[in-house]
Amino acid sequence: MKKIVAYPGTFDPITNGHLDIIRRGANLFDGLVIFVAKSNEKHPLFTFEERIEMAQCLAKEFNNVSVMPLEGLLTTCLKENNIKVVLRGLRTMSDFEYEFQMALINKKLYPDLETVLMMSSSEFVFLSSSLVREIALLGGDVSKFVPPCVGKRLKRRPANNGRGLCI
Ligand code: ADP
Repeated sequence: MKKIVAYPGTFDPITNGHLDIIRRGANLFDGLVIFVAKSNEKHPLFTFEERIEMAQCLAKEFNNVSVMPLEGLLTTCLKENNIKVVLRGLRTMSDFEYEFQMALINKKLYPDLETVLMMSSSEFVFLSSSLVREIALLGGDVSKFVPPCVGKRLKRRPANNGRGLCI
């Protein structure tokens, strides 16, 4: 049976740090599904459709990576798709506390589910979607921090102040 892993997140936007986890996860498992969460409660800068599109353009680089939208509870969606492993990235101790809590609650909701925490590569430990958003909104260059296809998408998107997001 093929081992499929889910990599869920808000991906607002997807960064080189996410890409690193995707690349390494796709090497460890037969298939990896990026679940782009709607995360309305987080008021994402990029729309659900934009975030899915950015993940799709990145997934095209791999032959075993796909993208699915996630609107409800992750564990419900994983049960429906018979996926029993979740991959998450770990940068700092504060990530650990949150991820550990999520892993434990998800296990209560879906006892067959295992969470795999993958340590960030050293060059991406500092990188987060929120910093990329902040730099882009203030007109800074984020091209070093996001995959090229995402950079192009950012460039096309008008920022709140009417100027294009700068990359
Ligand atoms: P969420 O809103 O679910 O936290 P994110 O898109 O912020 O979604 O992150 C998805 C996952 O990717 C999380 O497990 C997060 O810790 C991980 N992640 C984010 N940035 C990095 C990075 N630079 N290196 C490794 N993992 C990362």
